[in-house]
Order: sequence, then C-alpha cells, then structure tokens
Amino acid sequence: MVVVMSTTMLYRPLGKSGLQVSALSFGAWVTFGKQIGDPVAQQLLHTAYDAGINFFDNAEVYADGKAELVMGAILKKSGWRRSSYLVSSKVFFGYEDEKPNQTGLSRKHVVEACHAALGRLQVDYLDLYYCHRPDPTVPILETARAMHDLIVQGKVLYWGTSEWSAAQIAEAQRLCTAHNFHAPIVEQPQYNLFHRSRVEKEYAPLYQSPTGLGTTIWSPLASGLLTGKYHHGVPKNSRLDAPGMEWLRDLILKDPSAPKKLAVVPQLAAVAAELGTTLPRLGVAWCLKNPHISTVILGASRVEQLTENLGALDLLEKLTPSVMKQLDALSKPVAA
Ligand code: NDP
Repeated sequence: MVVVMSTTMLYRPLGKSGLQVSALSFGAWVTFGKQIGDPVAQQLLHTAYDAGINFFDNAEVYADGKAELVMGAILKKSGWRRSSYLVSSKVFFGYEDEKPNQTGLSRKHVVEACHAALGRLQVDYLDLYYCHRPDPTVPILETARAMHDLIVQGKVLYWGTSEWSAAQIAEAQRLCTAHNFHAPIVEQPQYNLFHRSRVEKEYAPLYQSPTGLGTTIWSPLASGLLTGKYHHGVPKNSRLDAPGMEWLRDLILKDPSAPKKLAVVPQLAAVAAELGTTLPRLGVAWCLKNPHISTVILGASRVEQLTENLGALDLLEKLTPSVMKQLDALSKPVAA
C-alpha cells in the first residue's frame, strides 16, 4: 500500500517557448482503450489533473485511435477549462490501415491525421503535435510546411518530433528559420536510468540553439523494468504480459543487455530504500533532476501506481550530488 503524499507540482518552460508544462505529465500508451477499462482511465486522468498535471500525451496509433477516443470523452465530461490543460497527438504510424498515405509524414497524412485526432479528442486544437518518428521518404521541408500551415490555421499550437536524430531536428529548425515557418520546439525521446545517451549527449547542442529544444520524455521506468516487477519473471496483468506486447517483452527481457540491467535493479532499489523511498519514485525523480527535461511523461495502469510515482516530486532534494554519482556508477555501465 503506497501512502499518498501531498505533493506540490512544479512547472517548467517547454524549452525556449513560452509554454509552461507540469514537470510530471501523463500518457495513454498501452493503457487507454486497450489494457484498462474506461472507468480506470477516467480515475487516472482525474488523479493526474487534481495533482496539477497539465499535459496529457496521446498519439494516433495508441490502440489505433481508441486511446484518443477514450481521453477525448473524459476531457469532454470533465468540465475542465480548455486553457487549464495541454493535449497532444502524434502522427506517423497511422490508425486505420497501412495503405499509401495512411502513415508517414507526407502533407496529406500530417493534415488528415490532425483532423482525425481533433475529432477523437473532441478539441478545437492540439497544444502539441509531434512527428512520431522521422520519415526518410518525405522531404523535411514538406512536413515542416504542413505543420506550419496547421499552426497558422489554429489547429495546432506547437509542433515537435519524437525520436528524430539531432541532425534531423537541426535541419528542420534551419529550414523553418529560412522559410519563416513555425519551427519545432520540442522532442519526445526515451529517457531513463537505462537509456541516456541521446538526451544527454546527442541533443546537447540543440538545448543551446536559438530555437532551443524542450523535451517531454517517455518510459521513465523503462516500461516497468525500473520498478523491479520483472525480477522474477513476467507478472500477470503487467505490460509485458499484455496481449500484443510480445515484441516489447522480447525487446526488454531478451536483449543481450537485459541480464546486466536486471542485476542492477536491486542495487538501485537499495539506494531507494536508503533514501526512504521506492524504486519507481527514484527512477522518475532521477529523470527530473536533468534540467534539460521539461516534463517526465508517466504511464500507469492503476491509480496506486500514479499516486506512487507522483511522490517523486518530494524526492528531488534528497538526490544530492553524491547520490546522483552513486546512481551514475550503477546505471552508466549498462545504459544505452
Ligand atoms: P513507464 O516506463 O513509466 O511505464 C509505465 C508502466 O509501468 C505502467 O503502465 C505500469 O505498467 C508500470 N508501472 C508504472 N508505475 C508503476 C509502479 N509504481 N509500480 C509498478 N508498476 C508501475 O512509462 P511509459 O512507457 O508508459 O511511457 C509514458 C508515456 O510516454 C506513454 O503513456 C506515452 O504517452 C509516452 N510514450 C511515447 C513514446 C514515443 O515514441 N514518443 C513511446 C512510449 C511512450 P503495468 O502495470 O502494465 O505493468
């Protein structure tokens, strides 16, 4: 049983933009429209909002559009002022089929996917709209122009990328500056104790660039690996047990680096115990300590998980330079 702590939410600017995003945010991947029922989704979104979370992350591909339908219905019913939260969608993987133009970053799919997401989420505009992956078959200028046009039309407020290389982001920003387009201001990369290099090294020059780069990071707990739950196999009803997630189970538990990571998890848990906290809280708080992280997107299949992870906010002061050094020594040798 996790004690619910009264935490105070922090807000950070999204890169060099004027947008304020809660340091913890909440995403719908695997859970909404798939792993959990709609009443649990509603409880989760309300728990998040009540804790001061102002950013809800979604994508066309999550449960093939159902995650956005579920989130949209909850938002509609909530009565929350539209100005009090941010909602995103992401385009690339598609939600219908994989016929030509139903996936990718062509002008046609970027625009059609935006219209479809607005319909499912029942909102007039997306606060953030991401290119979910790079698309080498489409010129970056075509995608950038489509994003710019959506912003000019008021359908999107800010655009960004997810898992683009630093070179691709820099090129998009350069093209936008040259054409006087709205430039991408945010990237959504994976970041956790076991996945560090891109955020810490590859993107480093972009944080200082004139456009800047906010980061809304995903899988802070490595899909649950950093909770210790996969230490004795795959528990029933966990993400890696969910139907259709076999690919992720193999990726996480059969990767050549898996045994080393699994060996480090109890050592990280011991550090958490010394600090009087839990491993999930430590994992989330560690991400938050990086000043280049605008927001850590939390995922949860149960309300207790979300309330536990929200407690990470109370841990920041305890992560002193010497604790951070200890965590570096444990995680760096096994991290990508
Ligand atoms: P995490 O790595 O934190 O994994 C979340 C999952 O871990 C939960 O659904 C739950 O799974 C388990 N978990 C979380 N907290 C606890 C806890 N305290 N105790 C035990 N188990 C726990 O984050 P996600 O991978 O969900 O990523 C967060 C969000 O980031 C997504 O919802 C999505 O919005 C975004 N994302 C973006 C991607 C991109 O390509 N841009 C890719 C992936 C995610 P369970 O109970 O089922 O085991």
